[in-house]
Amino acid sequence: MVPLNRQRAMSCIQPTSEMHLGNYYGAVEQWVTMQDTHDCLFGVVDLHAMTMPYLPAHLAENTSRMLTDLIACGIDSAKAKIFVQSLIPEHTELAWILGCKASYGELKRMTQFKEKGEQLEKLGPNDFISLGLLSYPVLQASDILVYRAEVVPVGQDQVQHLELTRNIARRFNRTFGKVFPEPSVLLTETPRIMSLADPDRKMSKSLGGRHYVGLFEEEKSVRQKVMAAVTDSGVLPAGTAMSPGVTNLLEILRASGQAEAAASFVKDFENGVKNYKSLKEAVADSLVELTTRLRANRKNVVGDIKSDVKKMSEAAREIARETIREVRKAVGLPKGLR
Ligand code: ATP
Ligand code: MN
Repeated sequence: MVPLNRQRAMSCIQPTSEMHLGNYYGAVEQWVTMQDTHDCLFGVVDLHAMTMPYLPAHLAENTSRMLTDLIACGIDSAKAKIFVQSLIPEHTELAWILGCKASYGELKRMTQFKEKGEQLEKLGPNDFISLGLLSYPVLQASDILVYRAEVVPVGQDQVQHLELTRNIARRFNRTFGKVFPEPSVLLTETPRIMSLADPDRKMSKSLGGRHYVGLFEEEKSVRQKVMAAVTDSGVLPAGTAMSPGVTNLLEILRASGQAEAAASFVKDFENGVKNYKSLKEAVADSLVELTTRLRANRKNVVGDIKSDVKKMSEAAREIARETIREVRKAVGLPKGLR
């Protein structure tokens, strides 16, 4: 049982591909510690993963894998509720209602919509920009508000969507009476890990394997990706700021618990010594330790996860149902049939 008076926290991850360092250091690592301080709900949001082109078999496979991976990272069903979004129809029911409190203009301006839209335009004429891609932040607002979450631990890229969620909650409350809290964002110290291959873009699952380091990746490819990370020529005039690639490697080193090694690199850098090779080696060593440990954890994940998650989703749904009851009444809809 969760002790009373704990703040409710909720956050989600898309089963678009495998979990990577950005997801871990920007979000999931913090979810693990929050299980002891908050009333936590964590979801695998399969409906969001449908907003970009995908294969049904992959979606099913990635959803199962993401659940296993979360458990291997330390998400514990005895402490938090883990659910699969599509098992809880209240998410989509509320999304429709909240959609009437979100403006077309603000959705169109979302950075993720623009970025993913550009990705789609490059794919070809069959992969058009769907209504789902435009409206997905409303479904995200619904994921959060259906549980009346107060804190949302996410990476920097989600701050804009959280702002939208707060706006929607405020507008709803103003029109229909106070039903929702305005949830606040909780960031980690490394809320934005960049791609090693292109440090001007954030590390993302959907950009392809070249752009991320998987959390459960084998040693050889982890080392290869880190050693090939884009930095700079190393011949910068004194006083020049660090390039994004080098800054990113340092952030990863700090996030992986090597703050002292990172500080000593910075000192050397300021003194004109730019030893990127040894920085990369330190990052690679640290990441190999992490991924080796997590791979071992994953081997130990046993039991029927699917049936456990069904049960936990049912428990999460109870909360969602209660919210929907109140919402339907507040907005003037008849009592639901469920
Ligand atoms: P996709 O490319 O499919 O959108 P993603 O890598 O962005 O995948 P999400 O499932 O969208 O991953 O996000 C899961 C969580 O990880 C969110 O809280 C998000 O803010 C966080 N996150 C994603 N990428 C990064 C990153 N590069 N640095 C820090 N946090 C991140
Ligand atoms: Mn994302």
